[in-house]
Amino acid sequence: MKQLVLAGGGHAHVQVLAVLATQPLPGVEVTLVTPQPTQWYSGMVPGVIAGRYAPEEAQIDLAALARRAGVRLVLDAVSALRAEARQLRLAGGAELAYDALSLDTGGEMSRDLIDGARDQALFVRPLQRFVQLWPQVESLAARQPGLQVVLIGGGAAGFELALAMRRALVARARVTLVAGNAGLLPGFSRGLRHRALSVLKSRAITVITDDVVEIEPGQLRLSGGSRLPCDAPVVALGVQPPSWLAESGLRRAPDGFIATGSTLQSVSHPNVFAVGDVASRVDTPHPRSGVYAVRAAPMLIANLRAWAAGRALGAYRPQRIALALLSCGDGTALASWGPLSAHGAWVWRWKDRIDRTFVESFGDGVQLASSPAQ
Ligand SMILES: Cc1cc2nc3c(=O)[nH]c(=O)nc-3n(C[C@H](O)[C@H](O)[C@H](O)COP(=O)(O)OP(=O)(O)OC[C@H]3O[C@@H](n4cnc5c(N)ncnc54)[C@H](O)[C@@H]3O)c2cc1C
Repeated sequence: MKQLVLAGGGHAHVQVLAVLATQPLPGVEVTLVTPQPTQWYSGMVPGVIAGRYAPEEAQIDLAALARRAGVRLVLDAVSALRAEARQLRLAGGAELAYDALSLDTGGEMSRDLIDGARDQALFVRPLQRFVQLWPQVESLAARQPGLQVVLIGGGAAGFELALAMRRALVARARVTLVAGNAGLLPGFSRGLRHRALSVLKSRAITVITDDVVEIEPGQLRLSGGSRLPCDAPVVALGVQPPSWLAESGLRRAPDGFIATGSTLQSVSHPNVFAVGDVASRVDTPHPRSGVYAVRAAPMLIANLRAWAAGRALGAYRPQRIALALLSCGDGTALASWGPLSAHGAWVWRWKDRIDRTFVESFGDGVQLASSPAQ
């Protein structure tokens, strides 16, 4: 039997598992390595914080998916990879050999990008831990009216979470968004950024365009030299390459993530596939978001099947522009498609339907949902 290891239960691998339940890979033993038996669906996490979803509505049951797919489940995390030796080491100490490896582990949020963050801040990733710790901020706000909550990170996650926290904490806390020197929602159109700024203003969320350089007890130090009072710093910055990639021997893109080509294989090790945030397409670079990971899944499935059968692999071209739907925490959302943008309750209903459909489609493990939007 050939050994295929799926590392991480990210947006693409949940779909691989769903398909394997009805269309197994002949002659291949498949193993899923995941630290958690469920996958938090990030698109619904701001809704969980805002109290719009129950935690179980925003999770996909990986253990059940693996069971239905006849896939061996290993509850552990990859801690080292030796691509030449075709070997993984897991955090629990076990070694795992593979013939082919598919990586959908996402990126890591570094604890050391900002001085003092490791000890003082709440990090948005891993999502599991973030959602677990969030109630502590809520009870702090209940005990300490006027609590200063500061979101650090001006991307889509920081924007959505600032509004979700405002919704959850109501008037008990002051919410500030420190967007960084690049400003709010870099990479989005001017129209969308303008709309986003007015939504934040209307919810009394202060936006600061500066970088946080240090987190000290009770305050943040900004790159411009000023200090900002802060009782609860929440870090929502972008992801970095997982540390275990450093010694893997896999060729990496200039940004440090796994360099992949059109077949979703590593450009240096063709028996290693990588999709989602952990990979960087060197032929057609695109931003990191769940949408791209989801869209790559059908080609990943086809290519894993082709690898198993010894057939030629297919090429996948990511979309040039992706739809982004950003929840505002109040029953409205922003839509962004290239230069176009919109805001309203209808956008929220649209996002809610897409996200729920995606997560619920894994309830029976056989359906493939359409792509979620940001
Ligand atoms: C609050 C928030 C909201 C977001 N909303 C959206 C949105 O609405 N739409 C959108 O497109 N994007 C959104 N994003 C971005 C999106 O979350 C990521 O781009 C997306 O999750 C990447 O998907 P992935 O499949 O690469 O990895 P992930 O979804 O991160 O999944 C990786 C999986 O691998 C597991 N894993 C991690 N390390 C290891 C290891 N060492 N060994 C084994 N398994 C491991 C993890 O536990 C996890 O289950 C949001 C991000 C945040 C933080």
